[in-house]
Amino acid sequence: MFIGHYGIGLLAKKNKQLPSLAIMFIAVQLLDLIWPILVLLGIESLSIDPGNTKLTHLNFEFYPYSHSLFMALMWSIIFGLCYLLFTKNKKGSLILGALVMSHWILDFITHRPDLPIAPFSDLKVGLGLWNYPVLETILELSLFGIGAFLYFKSPNFKRKIAFWLLVLFLLIVHMMNLLSPPPPSVVAVAWSANLMWLIVIWAWWIEKKPSSN
Ligand SMILES: [Zn+2]
Repeated sequence: MFIGHYGIGLLAKKNKQLPSLAIMFIAVQLLDLIWPILVLLGIESLSIDPGNTKLTHLNFEFYPYSHSLFMALMWSIIFGLCYLLFTKNKKGSLILGALVMSHWILDFITHRPDLPIAPFSDLKVGLGLWNYPVLETILELSLFGIGAFLYFKSPNFKRKIAFWLLVLFLLIVHMMNLLSPPPPSVVAVAWSANLMWLIVIWAWWIEKKPSSN
């Protein structure tokens, strides 16, 4: 799951009282933003395994701190509380907590049973939709399409070209993920995953107030 996560972020962004799209994007991808850092630090691990599922060449061997159910709940609470602390916006913090959790739920639907329940448990779960490429693609594109449409229809929509370029960019990256050969190395995977911060900056740019001059 890649652009489906962003679909949920776009979907959640309806009115001005809510956190910015950039913060929504951090929330929906928080687990995948933490994960490459832990991989590069040698705390979590993966391997290149062509055909691991029909839609990914990656074998997520060990990622209980970024991707277990228990830790996803912890990250949700921490992220929501941090936002509450800085903004006193209760509704926004609840939505952000739910968005962090939405990542785990979508990963649970798509990953094969490689998602740990907790760092202290050997039980792993996952429904494996990645082995059903047509269904997975329909789900993911629908989430993204509905999210992009609702965001486009929201009253505070601005920066049209920046927004449509982002939509196009995410669709291209998604296609490349699906069609590209296995990545050259684990380090390359982790570094390219860090590029997801670019999408956060892009979302910030879309909603940035125009300068007065
Ligand atoms: Zn993930």
